[in-house]
Amino acid sequence: MSQKTNPQVVIVGAGPAGMLLAYQLVTNGVPVRVLERHPDFEREFRGELLQPSALAPLEKLGILPLLVERKLALPNVERRLFVGRTRRVMVPGGKERGSLVSQAGLLQLLHELCGRHPHYQLDFGTTALQTIREDGRVVALKTRREGIEGRVEGDLFVDCSGRNSGLRRDVGLQVQTTQVPADVVWLRFDLSDTPEALPESVDVHMFGKGVVVVFVPTTRSRLQVAYSAPGDLGGLRKDLPELRRRLLPTVPEKLRPHIEAKLDERTESQFLRVVVDRVERWHAPGILFLGDAAHTMSPSGGLGLNLAIRDSLVAANHLLDAIHAGQPLDERVFQKIEDERRPETDMIQGMQTRVHRMVMAPMFVEHIMFTLLGLVLRLMKKADQSSQGVTQVEMRYGVPVSQLP
Ligand SMILES: Cc1cc2nc3c(=O)[nH]c(=O)nc-3n(C[C@H](O)[C@H](O)[C@H](O)COP(=O)(O)OP(=O)(O)OC[C@H]3O[C@@H](n4cnc5c(N)ncnc54)[C@H](O)[C@@H]3O)c2cc1C
Repeated sequence: MSQKTNPQVVIVGAGPAGMLLAYQLVTNGVPVRVLERHPDFEREFRGELLQPSALAPLEKLGILPLLVERKLALPNVERRLFVGRTRRVMVPGGKERGSLVSQAGLLQLLHELCGRHPHYQLDFGTTALQTIREDGRVVALKTRREGIEGRVEGDLFVDCSGRNSGLRRDVGLQVQTTQVPADVVWLRFDLSDTPEALPESVDVHMFGKGVVVVFVPTTRSRLQVAYSAPGDLGGLRKDLPELRRRLLPTVPEKLRPHIEAKLDERTESQFLRVVVDRVERWHAPGILFLGDAAHTMSPSGGLGLNLAIRDSLVAANHLLDAIHAGQPLDERVFQKIEDERRPETDMIQGMQTRVHRMVMAPMFVEHIMFTLLGLVLRLMKKADQSSQGVTQVEMRYGVPVSQLP
């Protein structure tokens, strides 16, 4: 049981949940070691849309202004929803504007800022394989780096390793999964030669029977396109003629010639199995789960990144309270974190699964649901609430960048 004044915290996964938690603990004097299986932050596709619920704390810390200065964030981006290519049925108001942030840029900046403190360490290329327990409590992790197995000790372990975390199964936690009827092919196009073709907003187009296409302008004049539909999208990703046949008619006219010219076998792409799941409990003795490791989000609504950040803010509040009070970092503290975060994640996952069901309807039914039945109003209210934050989250231990050594 840890009652040390300076417990060693080990965080698995240098994603947004892990790195923002590391930042808050390290800048408040707590030793942190982060384990990241990738060799750098340039990972596979990840969410880039930050909504007001996560923007405010990053703004307050001075992180967002730094990202804008480094051209790693596009501020003030609107989100729009269309039924079909042209029929716009929902125009979220100004207060729902978000920012598109390079995830790699955000993570690199947090790493640099943490690196100003001697009690911070990040091990790239290091995979956490399984927990090592004594008397039922996690006391160390078995790891692998460059093919060599090792052991990492700590007083507290926080698993921020994202979707399909193996550690949650390793400690025997049950995972509840909700079936989602459509997966996603993500594509990324370099439009730096024609930046004027980049849309200025995040546009979601719904075509009925589960076909949804999202166009996301990102930093460095890259355009991300998410094509979602029922069926074998892993196969579709590899079948270029079929992908062109299905995707191109969904692209708005102004953009279509650019996508048509650039969609070939060199286009960056990724198949994403859409998952909505949650662990029965966010903790086991000695280990806490946050972000997608605790509650894997669907990309619907672009909220997973925001929830991961908000989990870390709440976790830092309770962990630092306990450390300052000399209390053990045990399941009472973990439960407080889960109790504060679960209502928001449960509500948003519920909304995501309802949206997935609704978009399976044929287009004319979808249109009726969204316009005539007033579902759009309810959805707008929920979406707005989700982007603002369903519950109140405070950042009690945020040390602004301007106060760092
Ligand atoms: C293609 C795509 C688009 C998305 N779009 C959006 C969006 O626009 N807005 C939004 O809010 N959300 C979006 N999301 C969701 C969002 O990216 C995630 O919810 C968010 O990144 C979760 O953060 P996290 O820190 O919990 O986990 P992750 O970002 O998944 O980070 C986990 C980290 O742990 C590392 N790791 C995994 N296993 C191990 C291990 N055993 N040992 C060591 N390291 C390990 C991984 O390499 C990774 O770096 C999207 C997701 C995807 C896949």
